[in-house]
Order: sequence, then structure tokens, then C-alpha cells
Amino acid sequence: MDYLSADSHLLRDIVSKIYLNYIRRVARCCDFEVCGVVYNHNIKFLKNISNDPAFTYLTDPRDYFSIYNQITCAFHSHLASDLDLSGLDTQNIEETELSQLIYSVEGDRFLFYNYKLQKKFIFSL
Ligand SMILES: [Zn+2]
Repeated sequence: MDYLSADSHLLRDIVSKIYLNYIRRVARCCDFEVCGVVYNHNIKFLKNISNDPAFTYLTDPRDYFSIYNQITCAFHSHLASDLDLSGLDTQNIEETELSQLIYSVEGDRFLFYNYKLQKKFIFSL
């Protein structure tokens, strides 16, 4: 696993710091996993339709299918769990073929999984 600074160009090319701060602020206000997509220099929060949203997330593909080709990564938060991909996260990545950004509320850190590189990066703001 590689550690990045939030100003690293590797990251900045993918998700701007403004969006990272925004995801962080929203996630810290919620008692469930927030989720969404970063696309075309924009951000879209999606409804978490999981039956157990404090511990997992699930999105309706119809909510992002029209912008799928513009998505640079999907994101979601973890409340108390460790900052790593869960089994469900790995399954989601394989099904959607999207890179994944995870924010851990407890650890106040991000994990970025780059789908193309098949590599994980950890960083904080
Ligand atoms: Zn997760």
C-alpha cells in the first residue's frame, strides 16, 4: 500500500481537494455510509439503499448509468470499520469496474483504490 499526500498530483488529477473536503464533511455528519460518484469535474451523492447502511452501502445503478462513461471514481464512507476494502467493496469494484474512494470517519483518512493500476493509496487531508 502506498501513502500519498493530499496534494499529490497522482491524486489531484483524479479528485480535487474541494471534493475530498466535501465528502469528508458530509460523511462526518451522517450515521450511515454515504456514497456517490465523482464525474466530469463534478460530484453526485447517491442514495444508500442498503438494508444495513451503517455498515454497508448499496446504490441503484439507474442513479448513475447515464453518466457512467464520465465517472472517474465512486466513493463511500466507513463509519467504524478499518480503512480497507470489504468483501462487498471488492465485489462492487469488480462489477462496476470503477475506482473506489473510501473515507473512514473514525480514522479521518482516505483510501483510494485505482482500478486500472489495481493499487491502493492511503492519505489524509
Ligand atoms: Zn466499504
